[in-house]
Amino acid sequence: MTMTTAFSIPILMYHEVTPEQQIVEVGKKTQRTFILSCEQFAKQMQWLVDNGFSAISLPTLLQILSDGHPLRAEKKSVVITFDDGFAGNYFHALPILKQFQLTATFFVIVTRIGQPFYMSWAQLAALVANGMPVQSHTMTHALLGQATPADLVYELKESKCQIEQHLQTPVHFISLPHGSYDGNFKAAAQECGYSGGCTSEIAYVDRQTDAYFLPRVCVNSQYDLSTFAKMVQCRSDFLKQQVAARKFKRWLRRVVGERNYNRAYHFIYSIEEK
Ligand SMILES: [Zn+2]
Repeated sequence: MTMTTAFSIPILMYHEVTPEQQIVEVGKKTQRTFILSCEQFAKQMQWLVDNGFSAISLPTLLQILSDGHPLRAEKKSVVITFDDGFAGNYFHALPILKQFQLTATFFVIVTRIGQPFYMSWAQLAALVANGMPVQSHTMTHALLGQATPADLVYELKESKCQIEQHLQTPVHFISLPHGSYDGNFKAAAQECGYSGGCTSEIAYVDRQTDAYFLPRVCVNSQYDLSTFAKMVQCRSDFLKQQVAARKFKRWLRRVVGERNYNRAYHFIYSIEEK
């Protein structure tokens, strides 16, 4: 008998939750597939509870990774995360999470706090007061894989300091904008006091996962409840489909070039360019 147990834990990546009639308006700021209706999000949270899942925190996940505690690893666990700090996270996602007694981690872009469509410091403080960790999604949403060493440290360190100062809460996790990083990232993140990072790599967390490169599965607004269920249950058919779609996007990016790809992306989704 082995001492450790194999496990797969999904980290769900959400962006925004909003009432049906506001989806078009919010869609000016982020792609439509990132925006779930309140009803859709509530149904997913209900599904998690009905099916015996508990939402664990990122520090708990790291503990499972390091000690491989079999009982904890065997339980049905999921990590819920939100990127970008949109206002609907406070107005709509928070009440639904509270209703189902689930917790989520909110990654915020510090220079956008308090801007139209984004949460204010007071709203972030309310998240923390309700047991929802607020962590860093950098200062400016820069592509860290293309940042100079000085900019990399600024994005990591300054965002951590400001969130800790304003909210009096420890910041130990970073979510990488667009999943971008290079070979300098891990050492810089460790140096700045982070214990882990979330990427946009599509996979589930298992025993081999590096804490600084935690993969996530993005919850697309087009998924129905059965697709959501497959995703949370770490079904390999779900993953295969997602990885194939990601490969196609990468190929397209290479063929048309990064710049044209980004332009086309903003055009297709009618997002204001930043
Ligand atoms: Zn982002």
